[in-house]
Amino acid sequence: MLEGKLLIGGKWTSCESKFESLNPATGEVFGRACLAGKKEVAEAVEAARLAFPDWKKTDISERARIFNRIGDELLKRKQELKTLITTEMGRPLFESDIELLLTYEMVKYFANEGKKYLEGDAIPIKSDTFSFTRYEPVGVVGIIKPWNYPLLLPFWAIAPALLAGNTAVLKPSDLTPFVGIEIGKICQAAGIPDGVINVVTGDGSTGECLVGSNIDMVSFTGSAETGKNIMKNSAEKLHRISLELGGSDAFIVFKDADIEEAINGAVWGRFMNAGQVCVSPKRIFVESGIADSFIEGFVSRAKRLVIGNGLDPGTDIGPVVSMEQREKLKLQVEDAVMKGAVIECGGKIPPALQDGFYYEPTILTKITPEMKVMCEEVFGPVAVISVFDNMDEAVALANGTVYGLGASVWTKNLDIVMRMSSQLECGMVWVNEVCTLHPECPWCGIKHSGMGKDLSRYGVREFVSVKHVNINFGKGKTRGWWFPYGN
Ligand code: NAD
Repeated sequence: MLEGKLLIGGKWTSCESKFESLNPATGEVFGRACLAGKKEVAEAVEAARLAFPDWKKTDISERARIFNRIGDELLKRKQELKTLITTEMGRPLFESDIELLLTYEMVKYFANEGKKYLEGDAIPIKSDTFSFTRYEPVGVVGIIKPWNYPLLLPFWAIAPALLAGNTAVLKPSDLTPFVGIEIGKICQAAGIPDGVINVVTGDGSTGECLVGSNIDMVSFTGSAETGKNIMKNSAEKLHRISLELGGSDAFIVFKDADIEEAINGAVWGRFMNAGQVCVSPKRIFVESGIADSFIEGFVSRAKRLVIGNGLDPGTDIGPVVSMEQREKLKLQVEDAVMKGAVIECGGKIPPALQDGFYYEPTILTKITPEMKVMCEEVFGPVAVISVFDNMDEAVALANGTVYGLGASVWTKNLDIVMRMSSQLECGMVWVNEVCTLHPECPWCGIKHSGMGKDLSRYGVREFVSVKHVNINFGKGKTRGWWFPYGN
C-alpha cells in the first residue's frame, strides 16, 4: 500500500486527513494520500511565495537547463511511471507510454524553444521616442488538473509557468494523487529549488482552498462545471485564470473522404483512453450515402477491441476511472435509449469483468438533439452517430452544443476544408486527423470549453504579464500637449 505525502517548501510532510486511491481495474485500494486542508494549502502557497523572488531572478537559461533535466528524469523513470499511471487510472500501458513520450517532448520543447517567446519586443516610435515590452512572471500559480492525462496535463502548466519565472502549487486530481506526487519527486531530482514547485494532494475541497488562497493565478484543466466554480471563486481576488474545460467534439465525415481511414480514426479517437479524452469525437456525423457502410465498418471494428486490465499487454480498452464515472455513462445511455436511440453494440458492463469499473465499447444510432449524449459531455467509451445531408446541416449539427473545443473533418476537398474550418465554432480543427497534439501548436477552446491556451508560444504567454516601457530621449522640458493650454 502506497502512503502519500505533501511536498511543501522542498520537504515531504504528512497531514492528519487521508483519502484512498483505487485501482479502477480491480476496485481495490492501492494507496492512501494526504487530503490537504486550508492550513497545508496556505503553507504550500507561502513556500512558493518565498521562493518566487530568487527563481524570478534565476537566469532563464538555467531554468531551461533544469527542464531539460526533467525531460531526462521522465525517460529514466519510464517503466515505473507508466505502470503507476495505468494502475492509478486504468488505461492500457501502451497509452501510458505515449503519454510519457508526449510529456517528454513537450518539456524539451519548452526548455529549448520557450526562451524566444519570452523576449520582449522593441517598438521604435519616433526618432527620440522608443518603447519596448517585457514579459514578466505573474507570481504564484495554483495548478489544478484532472486525472485523464495525470502526467502530461500538470506538466503542460508546470513547464511554461516555471520557465517564465513563476513558482507553483500543484493540486493533482483526487483520482491520481500518486502520479502528482511523482511529479514533485521528478522536479526535485532535476534540481528545482525548494519551494518553486509544491504538491498538495486532495479533492475538490483542496482545490477550492487553493483558489481562495494567496495565489496570483489559477491554471485549471477539468470539467466546465468546476471551471465555472473556479471563475466565480476567483472573482473576489481578481486572480488571473486560465481554463481548459470539457468538450463534445464533432467528427464529420463527408462522402468524398477515405472511408476506411475515417472509420479507423473514429474508432481510435472515440475509444482510446476508454473515451475519456477532452477532444475525443463525442458526436460523429456522417454524410448520407456513406452512412450505412460507415456504421457497419465502425461497429465491426469496435467489436474487435479487447477490453481488460490495462496492465495486460493485449488490452485495447481498460476500465473507466471510477464507479461514479461509469454510473454517469450508464444514465446517459439509458436516457438515449428511452428517447429512441438504437444500441448497435455494447451498452452494458462486460459479464466477465464485474470487478473494477469496466463498460463495453458502445455505439448508438438514431440519435436526436435532446438526448443527454448530445447535450452533455460523454466521458467514456460510448460513440453516437448521426447522419447529415449537406454541409450547412453538418455545420449546424456540429455547432449545436455549448462546447467549443475541437472538431475533426474528413474530406479530400479543399473547398470543404476552408469553409468548415471557418464556420466551426471551436478552438481546434483537425482535417483527416483526430486527437493529435504538437507542442509547437496551440491547444485551446471557446464557449464552455474555456478560455485557456496551452502549448506553443501562446501557452508560455499565458503565464506572463506584458509590461510596456516607454523612453523619451530628449524632447525638451515641455510637450505641446502639456499645461498651460492657453498660449
Ligand atoms: P473535474 O472538474 O471534476 O476536476 C478537475 C480538478 O479540479 C481535480 O483536481 C479536482 O479535484 C479539482 N476540483 C474539483 N472541484 C473543485 C473546486 N470547486 N475548486 C477547485 N478545484 C476543484 O474534472 P475531471 O473529472 O478530473 O476531468 C475530466 C474533465 O476534464 C472533462 O470534462 C474533460 O473534458 C476535461 N479536460 C479538458 C482538457 C482540455 O484541454 N480542455 C484536457 C483534459 C481534460
